[in-house]
Amino acid sequence: MIKNCGIIQEVKLTSYAPNGFEYYINDENALSQLLHFFRDHRMTNTPSSYDLHLHTEFSPDSSTPLEAYARCANQLAIHIGFLDHFELAFLDRIDYLNPNRFPRLLEEYDRVHSQYPYTSLGLEVDYYTDLAPQLAEFCDDYKKDFDYFIGVVHTIDRLALTIVEEMEELVKTIGLREILERYFDEVESAIRSQLFSGIAHIDGVMRFLPLFPGSPEVNSLWKQRTKELGLLCQEQGVLIEVNLRGLNHPWGRMHPDPQIIDELILSGAKFFVGSDSHSLKDFENTAPQLCQLNAYLAEKQALRLPESIQSSILHSEK
Ligand SMILES: [Zn+2]
Ligand SMILES: [Zn+2]
Repeated sequence: MIKNCGIIQEVKLTSYAPNGFEYYINDENALSQLLHFFRDHRMTNTPSSYDLHLHTEFSPDSSTPLEAYARCANQLAIHIGFLDHFELAFLDRIDYLNPNRFPRLLEEYDRVHSQYPYTSLGLEVDYYTDLAPQLAEFCDDYKKDFDYFIGVVHTIDRLALTIVEEMEELVKTIGLREILERYFDEVESAIRSQLFSGIAHIDGVMRFLPLFPGSPEVNSLWKQRTKELGLLCQEQGVLIEVNLRGLNHPWGRMHPDPQIIDELILSGAKFFVGSDSHSLKDFENTAPQLCQLNAYLAEKQALRLPESIQSSILHSEK
């Protein structure tokens, strides 16, 4: 069953982040342990791993149908959450998700969810301080249709930090230090807005940073601000995402950095895990690490789900 999903061919146990995580993979038997893990959980049919960050054909940068993820996740006993981009500043762009397309998304989600109950529906909502009132109105209008909203900052001055050419332009015009300061200020506003259950890739600004010569000062700024924002999330009851997408970018590690995750765990912060997959292949490739991380966080009592997902699971267990 797992084979149909391609996971056996795709699993690569390469060297992994430090600070506790290597325990799970720097082990000759890791692959067989993992396949047993999947099989055992499949037998009980109760997912114990959660991937709440999957992009589908309703995002401009993915073409994967909801059902394709759901079928594969069901085989791997992973509860998944669809988390397409919602970018209020770019609603006029033709391929971006617009509220006009919500009826189609909701209809498709209902169809898939009725067949695969271990699925949830969220949105990755871009935060912009200058559009805060409109965002609050949007979240209020649509909260009944979605299980959770995750706040995120992808842009400064509407230029994307996640597109290398646009990042280059920002480095030329305002410089690295200001990029980092403005990015973290915007994330702070997103956390304080109380619009979101969680924050996606909290230090996502670092994704392409290694491509640009930076000073040690910028490095200390990144660490300091990420930790402070993690503590702010904890204080405000906002979940922090452990996002795996940084592993495939110049950054080469998770968001936030594993050392910061461990420090925040000690402070009592709570996390959820997102692969940030944009294709079925991404999802399959990241599934082993995703399950390891879920287990790691659960063991540390640092794994939490957005409330509506938690309550629907409790409800279905009754
Ligand atoms: Zn994102
Ligand atoms: Zn995303």
